Amino acid sequence: MAISTSTILTILPFLFLPSSSFAQSSYPAPFRSFIDCFLQHLSPDLIYTSNSTSYESVLQSSAQNLRFLVSKTNQKPSIIVTADSTYDVSITIRCACTYGLQLRARSGGHDYEGMSYVSDDKERPFVVVDLAHYRSIDVDAKTRTAWVQAGATLGEVYYNVFIKSNGTLGFPAGQCPTVGAGGHVSGGGFGAMMRKFGTAADNVIDAKILGTSGVVLDRRAMGEDLFWAVRGGGAASFGVVLAYKLQLVEVPPVVTAFNVYRNLRQNATNLVTRWQDIAPKLDESIYLRAVVQPVIDSESVWNVNIQVQFTSLFLGNKSQFFSAIDTSFPELGLQAEDFTEMNWLESALFMYGMSGKGIEALLNRTPASNSSFKAKSDFVTNPITEKQWGEIWRALRNLKEDNITILLIMEPFGGIMDMIPESTTPFPHRKGNLYIIEYETRWSGVEEQESKRHLDSMRKLYDFMTPYVSSNPRMSYYSYKDIDLGRTEGLMPSYFEARQWGERYFKGNFEKLAIVKGRVDPMNFFRNEQSIPPLYYTNYYDDDVEGKIGSSKGGDSRRTDGVEIKPSREISERPGRHRKMSPLSVNADRDGAYQESSSSSMAIIGVYSRDALVIPTPSKGDVTVPRARIACGVEDESFMGRKVVRLVVPGLLEQTIQPFNSTFSYCFKLKQSISNDGDNHLRLGEDAVMGNQTTLATWCSAPWGGKNKCGVVLDSGTAVTYLPREALKSLVAQISTDTQKSSIIPEDDFWHLCYMGTGD
Ligand SMILES: Cc1cc2nc3c(=O)[nH]c(=O)nc-3n(C[C@H](O)[C@H](O)[C@H](O)COP(=O)(O)OP(=O)(O)OC[C@H]3O[C@@H](n4cnc5c(N)ncnc54)[C@H](O)[C@@H]3O)c2cc1C
Repeated sequence: MAISTSTILTILPFLFLPSSSFAQSSYPAPFRSFIDCFLQHLSPDLIYTSNSTSYESVLQSSAQNLRFLVSKTNQKPSIIVTADSTYDVSITIRCACTYGLQLRARSGGHDYEGMSYVSDDKERPFVVVDLAHYRSIDVDAKTRTAWVQAGATLGEVYYNVFIKSNGTLGFPAGQCPTVGAGGHVSGGGFGAMMRKFGTAADNVIDAKILGTSGVVLDRRAMGEDLFWAVRGGGAASFGVVLAYKLQLVEVPPVVTAFNVYRNLRQNATNLVTRWQDIAPKLDESIYLRAVVQPVIDSESVWNVNIQVQFTSLFLGNKSQFFSAIDTSFPELGLQAEDFTEMNWLESALFMYGMSGKGIEALLNRTPASNSSFKAKSDFVTNPITEKQWGEIWRALRNLKEDNITILLIMEPFGGIMDMIPESTTPFPHRKGNLYIIEYETRWSGVEEQESKRHLDSMRKLYDFMTPYVSSNPRMSYYSYKDIDLGRTEGLMPSYFEARQWGERYFKGNFEKLAIVKGRVDPMNFFRNEQSIPPLYYTNYYDDDVEGKIGSSKGGDSRRTDGVEIKPSREISERPGRHRKMSPLSVNADRDGAYQESSSSSMAIIGVYSRDALVIPTPSKGDVTVPRARIACGVEDESFMGRKVVRLVVPGLLEQTIQPFNSTFSYCFKLKQSISNDGDNHLRLGEDAVMGNQTTLATWCSAPWGGKNKCGVVLDSGTAVTYLPREALKSLVAQISTDTQKSSIIPEDDFWHLCYMGTGD
């Protein structure tokens, strides 16, 4: 990664006076600090606290799932920032990061579990950066591309793309026009053109993302792994996506659609059974969805009928469509008048049941209706038999009798989805899937009792469906988030525990997502209840000892613990070649696990830190630090309820992708004696590095990897950092040099050493 490809944001302080609505005393310390930090650079007009009169309306403005706005188990954001520029986003991240506040990005607010605007962790207040105003769309019809900022809705994307290309281009994404591009594209995103063009994420060719560095990274700067991760893995774990560059697709001047209903008296069971075989195999220009719904019907024996709505889009004209459907699915009994020709933009309205509203309706960011809802998803790999459908109908009918309506929204896969390998993007649902089922139940009102009734019923139906859907693992779609599958716990969640739900969303791609996470956000700043946990790999591995923490076995004369050091290896995703390390287990076993060694061979990578410095390096050997880039280190007394020096390493993103290539970031203090009240302090100050290099001992058998891991521990407390000797020397030299030059650091304020320079 070359820093020159990135945009370094120039921080030009706007010196706004704090507005009276931010009376400092009424906020807990980190928020006061955040607000101070924010107001040094940005207008108070962009920031809403719970004391602001417009706070509730801003919070609710795009929140889709009403039940989270009143839930007693969730907390609302302490601060909402309505960003409308990259600078706003950057300052918000920086201030949140500096003062140890959690941050969540919200683009369209359609998260099924409300994770962009509420949190179920009541102990950790958080900030929302709302991107609803950050939504420009720049279409280049000639190259068939568009840069779309995260806060744009799908309706706005479709409208702009189609209009600005004179009706020739479209984009394959979801059907709800108010869904935000930021969350949708980063989670995969599919709709009526999926079978021909793949998911939205499949059609992303560049992206811009901001992490804690303040540096906007485009595809080249972020590297292919992170670029891979934010196309289906959910960007919320990796940073704030500012914009995606989309590869647009050609759409014909005329497309055709139909929408028909069949109930049990009209042979619906047989039709759905047939649909499973037909829809995934149709020509890829045809999308044929089936939505099952129990409806009250007095003519029905049980007073409840099962209605199936077949909705279809064909990228071509009526006569071609009619003949294709008539040949492949004659049982549907379609008539010529069932088909309607329209242009592609109108079809976006049609598919969402908004026909006749006029194309400008796509620009309306307010959803037609929002309510409380709960959804889950399943993938079907083997057709369900007619008899089994009968059993499913019975389950739906029973629920309906209890006044619970659950829809089964079934979307066919096949077409190009069968051709794209599972690992192309994190979205793994490719060949072998006939269709996805989304179970959805909605209710008006927000009473806890009513929510519970619907949630319980949904869970019951989901259990009931177990034999009919994919298994080992039972797959789910990440963008249809379902907290029932599991959650990440704590600040540094265990990868191994998270696999239980992570592999259900991502299959084998979960591991790679966790490795990317470990590299770009090892301190887990960007997190939510189902964010990707960081995973680290070691270069060294043991053939004979699997993960014995602090083990001392073997016979290498170079080691005080007598363990033979095996050659280092490159990072690999191949299972078995490297040991995976769970941050949680690592930390749990940390104390007393170090053993001194005089080894000159350093194990590198596999750096673990729960709350402090992380300096991973890519491989054993000569690693140099050509230029330093001093970043940010702060004291935050309330962070995690402990007094810690928390290091924020803005350059981490770059370092971990291509460490030491052109820039390096670190944080340090100039004065010592900060560590006399516990072991949480980083000692990358005079006592550890600056004053006396000899205190930098090399340690082996470090706790995160058992034996065969040697390196330099820069922090004898919580944070441990492995560095190759050469890298360390360079780092120390660079710190020394910079420190001598660093008159900009105030003598009396050594905690706040945040300044940035470039590596160039
Ligand atoms: C009514 C409705 C219809 C839907 N239809 C479809 C469909 O047809 N096809 C389909 O595939 N999906 C569909 N979805 C699911 C939808 O794609 C996801 O819920 C998606 O995550 C919503 O994105 P958002 O930006 O609107 O949500 P948000 O709530 O804003 O964000 C969702 C998640 O992404 C994170 N996030 C948002 N913006 C950013 C950013 N800029 N950078 C980093 N992280 C960010 C949030 O923190 C949160 O974790 C639908 C959802 C709803 C509610």
